[in-house]
Amino acid sequence: MPALSTPALVLRHADYGDYDRMVTLLTPEYGRMDAVARGCRRAKSPLVNAVEPFTSGVYQLYARRGRMSIDQCEIKESFYPLRVDYDRLVHGAYWLRLLETTAVPDVPAGELFLIALKALAHLSYSDLPPALLTMAFEMHLMAQLGFAPRMDACVCCGRPVAGDARFDAALGGAVCLACPSGAPRVSNGARRIMMKLPRTQFEKVALVDGHPNWQEAARLFRSYVNRRLHQEKFAPPLSDACRGECKT
Ligand SMILES: [Zn+2]
Repeated sequence: MPALSTPALVLRHADYGDYDRMVTLLTPEYGRMDAVARGCRRAKSPLVNAVEPFTSGVYQLYARRGRMSIDQCEIKESFYPLRVDYDRLVHGAYWLRLLETTAVPDVPAGELFLIALKALAHLSYSDLPPALLTMAFEMHLMAQLGFAPRMDACVCCGRPVAGDARFDAALGGAVCLACPSGAPRVSNGARRIMMKLPRTQFEKVALVDGHPNWQEAARLFRSYVNRRLHQEKFAPPLSDACRGECKT
């Protein structure tokens, strides 16, 4: 891979050497990609803003000594408003961690990339509660990974579920009230949010704002995300693996 040009979102950076940074990118075509930004910590480096987390743009990269290097970047969006709002920044940082954990090198992530940009735009420019956007982002992420929980039928007996039920994060879905289960209850409203939201366009998240059950759905879904991602034992990101050689 001598040289390439790709849209990318910066997930993380870590100082490397005296003037460089290691940057973890999410790209539509190449999935998660680690690259070095040489000289980006020197005064007046043109790459100084291009390596900040949340920055998205078109990155020109080239391979050098077996490692990708960022040559230049045309920044498209820096999502500035979320960087200056602590609550939104905490939510956005969690999303970047989720992306870094679940995106895989050399596995295309086109849909995930688009959802990440849409979600970050909402987090930056809409008045929707950050916790609501985090729930929607988690639901879309899990659906993209093929981990959407089953909410329309009981994961124990297979019978259709139409109203209130239980939600078993370990089994990955709804449990009908006829089946014995110690899992927490889920209202019909929250169950339907968990079923429908990941199947609609991200922009539709605004329709859930004001729904009396969205906080319940968010709480239950978070327990599912934590358990499922732990179960899957995602490999640590490369930038963790190279910590030994990086001066962080
Ligand atoms: Zn059942």
